[in-house]
Amino acid sequence: MADVAETPLSLMSLEDELTCSICLSTFDCPVTTPCGHNFCQDCLLATWKETQRCPQCRTPIPTKPELKKNTVLSAVVETFNLSSNKTEDSLIKEEKKAEEKEDVIRDTSHQPPHSESLTLTFI
Ligand SMILES: [Zn+2]
Ligand SMILES: [Zn+2]
Repeated sequence: MADVAETPLSLMSLEDELTCSICLSTFDCPVTTPCGHNFCQDCLLATWKETQRCPQCRTPIPTKPELKKNTVLSAVVETFNLSSNKTEDSLIKEEKKAEEKEDVIRDTSHQPPHSESLTLTFI
């Protein structure tokens, strides 16, 4: 039971873990530096050309880091993006439902109350 309640929190911290501190979006081809930090490959290489330091902890990276794609992290990012897209889709659907409801209310207010006149005819 406690596990279910904790799921949203762990998902939120997961988003932090999957966010590149250079471009502030989820990793695109994540790579790990020698100091253990993760960045998009393109982001890290672009920064490294200028400073030769880890953008996160400022550890000097004097030689061009031998970057290996972090396949595990990459798979996690993919899964995370998929699940967050699903959430957005359901939000959009809920918004549409709300709009439909508003339309129905507007329609009835515009039209004369047919049911009332029908009832009068029957009487
Ligand atoms: Zn990035
Ligand atoms: Zn670092």
